[in-house]
Amino acid sequence: VVSLKGLSKHYGENVVLDKVDLDVSAGEVVAMVGPSGAGKSTLLRCINLLEVPDAGTVTVGDQCVDAGKEVSAKDAMRLRRTAGMVFQSFNLFPHLTVLRNVSLAQERVLGRSRAEADARSMELLERVHLAHKADTYPARSSGGQQQRIAIARALAMDPQVMLFDEPTSALDPEVGLEVLAVMRELAESGMTMIVVTHEIPFARDVSDRVVVMADGGIIEQGEPHQVINNPQHERSQRFLRAVT
Ligand code: ATP
Ligand code: MG
Repeated sequence: VVSLKGLSKHYGENVVLDKVDLDVSAGEVVAMVGPSGAGKSTLLRCINLLEVPDAGTVTVGDQCVDAGKEVSAKDAMRLRRTAGMVFQSFNLFPHLTVLRNVSLAQERVLGRSRAEADARSMELLERVHLAHKADTYPARSSGGQQQRIAIARALAMDPQVMLFDEPTSALDPEVGLEVLAVMRELAESGMTMIVVTHEIPFARDVSDRVVVMADGGIIEQGEPHQVINNPQHERSQRFLRAVT
């Protein structure tokens, strides 16, 4: 579903991604770990073109973008829609109800009717166990609930892959667990996911593959227990020792 080939990105002198290749198949859950500054967020941002890579190709579903060629706004939009993104900060619209937060883009971007968008939003809010919050405003929800609303909002675009960038790191551990539980259910439902996380238990128990990044590249990847319990690369050993 996702294929990255030779993905490179630099900021000035700083090479942040150095010819990264990554393939994620349908239904696969990839946990991405690694030290700060490794390039994990930049990689996710390149997948949905929040950041335009300097070189390489990004394929999501049947959308392919080649950084070597001119990327049209239309292609970028289409690719962005096929990849749903959830950030550390949830950025809900404070002046809109929870339901409206989830339904608005369905009307604006997908052209659904209000009734259709609202019905789909209620389904998604049920899925993240927050249907009872539909008519309230985001400020009335906890951080963990707001993050689950943000997940519902991303799912509302019917993405082919969901990208998570440290979705629980701004939350208290307790509410973080609610979010991880929803992500686990999503994984079990067959959603393709790339999750940047420091939650090693989640990586071990939920993901199909752990990818370790450092210095703009993938230094090691494999079966979760293998990589977590017995990392081969010195850099992964050091990182995993620090977070477990
Ligand atoms: P963390 O675990 O801290 O979130 P990360 O692996 O997500 O780290 P990135 O955020 O991808 O790392 O950053 C990789 C490198 O790129 C860092 O050295 C960072 O300073 C640099 N960088 C990221 N975004 C920009 C930007 N917009 N302009 C300049 N440099 C940037
Ligand atoms: Mg990051």
